[in-house]
Amino acid sequence: MNKPVKADRLEAGLRVDIQAPCRGFVVALDAIPDAAFAGGALGPGIGIEPLESGLYAPCDAEVIAVSRTRHAVTLKAGNGAEILIHAGIDTVKLDGKGFAPQVSAGQSVKAGDLLLQLDLGALAEAAPSLCTPVIITNGDAFAVDVLAAPGLVDRGAQILQATATTAVAELADPSGESARETLILELADGIHARPAARIAKCAKGFSGRIELVRDGVTVNAKSAATLMGLGTAHGDRIEIIATGSGAAEAVAELAALIRAGAGDAVTPVAADTPVLVEVPASAPAELSGVAASPGVAVGPIHLHTAAQFDVPATAVDMAAEQARLDAALKQVQSAIADEARQARGERAALLEAHAELADDPALIDAARDRIAQGASAGAAWQTVTREQAAQLEATGDKRMAERVADLADIEARILGALYGTAEAADPADLSGAIIIAADLLPSEFMRYAQAGIAGLALAEGGATSHVAILAAAENVPALIGLGPRALTLPQSTPALLDTAACKLVLDPSDAAVTAIRDRKRQRKEAEALAALASGDPARTSDDRRIHVYANLASIDDATSALRNGAEGCGLLRTEFLFTHRRTPPGETEQAEVYMAISQCLKNQPLTVRTLDIGGDKPVPFLDLGDEPNPALGLRGIRTLFAHPELMRDQVRALLGVAARRDIQIMLPMVSSPSELVDFRRIARELADEMEIDKLPPIGTMIETPASAVIADQICAVADFVSIGTNDLTQYTLAMDRGHAALAGRMDALHPAVLALIGQVGAAARRAGIPASVCGGLASDPVAVPALIGLGIGKLSVVQSMIAPIKAIVRELDAEHCTRFAADLHALDSAEMIRARLVAEWPQLDRWR
Ligand code: PEP
Ligand code: MG
Repeated sequence: MNKPVKADRLEAGLRVDIQAPCRGFVVALDAIPDAAFAGGALGPGIGIEPLESGLYAPCDAEVIAVSRTRHAVTLKAGNGAEILIHAGIDTVKLDGKGFAPQVSAGQSVKAGDLLLQLDLGALAEAAPSLCTPVIITNGDAFAVDVLAAPGLVDRGAQILQATATTAVAELADPSGESARETLILELADGIHARPAARIAKCAKGFSGRIELVRDGVTVNAKSAATLMGLGTAHGDRIEIIATGSGAAEAVAELAALIRAGAGDAVTPVAADTPVLVEVPASAPAELSGVAASPGVAVGPIHLHTAAQFDVPATAVDMAAEQARLDAALKQVQSAIADEARQARGERAALLEAHAELADDPALIDAARDRIAQGASAGAAWQTVTREQAAQLEATGDKRMAERVADLADIEARILGALYGTAEAADPADLSGAIIIAADLLPSEFMRYAQAGIAGLALAEGGATSHVAILAAAENVPALIGLGPRALTLPQSTPALLDTAACKLVLDPSDAAVTAIRDRKRQRKEAEALAALASGDPARTSDDRRIHVYANLASIDDATSALRNGAEGCGLLRTEFLFTHRRTPPGETEQAEVYMAISQCLKNQPLTVRTLDIGGDKPVPFLDLGDEPNPALGLRGIRTLFAHPELMRDQVRALLGVAARRDIQIMLPMVSSPSELVDFRRIARELADEMEIDKLPPIGTMIETPASAVIADQICAVADFVSIGTNDLTQYTLAMDRGHAALAGRMDALHPAVLALIGQVGAAARRAGIPASVCGGLASDPVAVPALIGLGIGKLSVVQSMIAPIKAIVRELDAEHCTRFAADLHALDSAEMIRARLVAEWPQLDRWR
């Protein structure tokens, strides 16, 4: 299919395989650090962070354009697909500097021919990002499959496949039919992303041309990106125009879809009251829980029912059962692989774990043995997964909880493939609902999240359970631990979920719904304003510079950090490279990843934390032995000292990259200065071995009370310190950070924790080294004046909070913060401290 033919017309069904144009890191389309590419405005595709200095033809093709400024090459493949390879972001501004094209327009190329030579060093300095989009610019006429998951690929690896879906003749419809209809937009928030996607999907069901017009501006209704760009608002007059066969049906169907809200809330233009929640006059009732993912939601509740399978215990035909199991495993493996191609972050990690289990030789062999003894395929699989889960649970090791959840998940998937699921509700109909369940399997949650649910409330669950982490990653507000009463609520009851108040309110009053909507709107407005200034530095009104960095845990994260306003990375959690692996990554692989992340950050500093495994972070390749109390056992820097081969690979990788980039090394879970001194000695020896003169700055996290209490001694040997308030709070309050029942009391603004932060700030000042906070407290808006007042000059935060935290800093006076923070730790409780801070700075209330 990759023959270079002159393709003047498209022919449906023709496919082209597109290869990686260089060795590098694949970046999902929506993670490309440029809104136009990320939003798909230029077409489907992916990005790649190059790790070599040439870009090579991704298939046999004809070169149709080399840009005047030499930074982009467009090819036409044999099936007519036009492939844009755009070296770096915003590189048009470099006016050709750093690019040497090796081809010219009109030339035929073979897959693997060199297209463009790059001066990577110069580009890394000058361009905002080296991320190179590979885009099918005429993607409307192609089904484009993304074949590469985010991560490392070699040049020539298959990354995309484009199959022509539309023959040229179909593009111009000769029927002469046309239709139009005008309507007033009643979508509460106009045509934003979700409705735009639904409208575009519906429009694509018709072969002719379909356009939407507002105020004389016309856009293609088949493109979600241009529909969003139309900038519609509630109450706008819009016109739908269709030409071609079926035009009248197309207009009628689209108009009906838009009138029904296109998956979003509808607010009648004439009425002021929202229609989403109809509030009966009955007395309000509420349930209390623990916040697992912040936010508010209003919507009807939907009670989740766990999938039930009718699993026969025995089978008559052993060979047929073996074949059924094999087919089910294959089906699930391929479904997981499909999902993984589109997945990022937490979801990708989850799918990776599931892929391993669906291909686990021990489980599969054990299931085969059971079938040989007469069990049905389903009963065999159920027995072996449950036996394994029971074994893990019997260890009493809480670190295995995640693995047990994964086993339950993979059990359900295989049984679903064998016997089918009787889904009570189509998840797609649950957009805007609040899901209630005893607990959810991670994959069940992901299906709901994709359907656009408004919130999640679990009768059971733990604050750091897999589902809670996924909910936070997907921005779905979630409460857990509501108790069994939650499961008796009538289906479709209108409800209001408020994680700041830790409540699920049933049949909320109009006033409560309005108040919560106002608060949501206020916060949205504040976020939008903050985002406008996300790229500006944060200075207090009395000119104290506060640096706001990002916490990162993947290459994906790194690609968006600068775009979100980060001034660097204050905590790279390197665990992401190690968890879910059967063997640890070696020095070379690690070095490539650290280099790529540093390149994504351009010239901004990158603080890499050495591996923090052990405790609640197990890894499959390392038997950490029986840990009666993992949180107090071998974790953080202790694990690295116990496994010198791991330390050696990671430190050598870091030293190699630090010799060329702005990198500092940070040690987790330090409790005495000797740990840092020993680490520095080992790093010195390895640097000598590598003939590297200068060690990068080496600092420690302060996350044990011991290190905070002797902060002066630690600061005497550290180049910097960074306070990990998550663990510091856990160890100071003697409360397990994963304990559901204690989650409501695990507040890092506890006076004891604040006192320790104050001591660390003062010790760092005396030693003349920087002190930052990279734990969750840095991302807590109410805590910002307290931290600045305690002498913290750098906050490393979750990406969504970079702009808000900068905005909050700009409204504060540092001297005022210092005076105010001096006595805060003398108060009795975190609640009192929070109340005092909000009373002093009422503007903080809008961030709740
Ligand atoms: C912390 O403990 O605050 C921290 C940042 O480390 P982690 O959450 O990765 O344990
Ligand atoms: Mg920690």
